Amino acid sequence: MGEKAGRRRPGPLAGLLVAVVVAAGCLGGGLDQGEPGQPGPRRSGQPASPGADSTRADGTTSVAEFKQDFSDAVGIAERYWTDRFRDSGKQFRPIRRVVPYTRSGEVSCGGEGLPRNNAVYCSAGDFIAYDVNWSVGAFRQVGDAFLFYLLGHEYAHGVQVRLGIRYNFTIQQELQADCMAGAYIGDNVRSGTLTLAEGDLDEFREGLLAVGDDPNQPWFAEGSHGTAEQRTDSFFRGYENSLDACGLG
Ligand SMILES: [Zn+2]
Repeated sequence: MGEKAGRRRPGPLAGLLVAVVVAAGCLGGGLDQGEPGQPGPRRSGQPASPGADSTRADGTTSVAEFKQDFSDAVGIAERYWTDRFRDSGKQFRPIRRVVPYTRSGEVSCGGEGLPRNNAVYCSAGDFIAYDVNWSVGAFRQVGDAFLFYLLGHEYAHGVQVRLGIRYNFTIQQELQADCMAGAYIGDNVRSGTLTLAEGDLDEFREGLLAVGDDPNQPWFAEGSHGTAEQRTDSFFRGYENSLDACGLG
């Protein structure tokens, strides 16, 4: 997934950025009503064939390239979950829209405008929305493989809704989404749909370390996502063992 030559090492800001991406990524997960204010056109459904040169995490990635990569990740997720549901004799309904935005309040979830510097699955309107400029910044700093983790994680929240999975604690919901994101990436690597470049696995590790909760955060707190170790364990359990490891039942 991408070319690593010349990639900058993530600076101190990278952790911060991604921590905010993922922490906010679940903002709308618990909302059950409402519609997005400005849904925007559907962005998914692009043919997905990220080649070795399709992305560059060296600071040269344009917004247009990022959107294309994001669309690729969405297309792969749609196919992945369609196949998994079919395997279980079910029909998968893809997440309705994936909406890039640039301004605060441009898109709302359940009647609340989404702030800038955010990425979210909104169950109220069944869509994923992301601040595109800010996401590009995180993408440049952390690397392109991590984009697939972020999309995989948010998409997993939509799948949880479809399966009626609702844990008592946020952390359970979050760690399962990390596992499902790992399975989505690992299974697509095994099938040859995605190709990992050298360093991509380290990129996942670095990114997951950055998004772990503060060690003093109580695990049962609302908004807890898990420590770095828990998140890394969940992701790689799914990555290595596929969905059987994720407790989808
Ligand atoms: Zn989440």
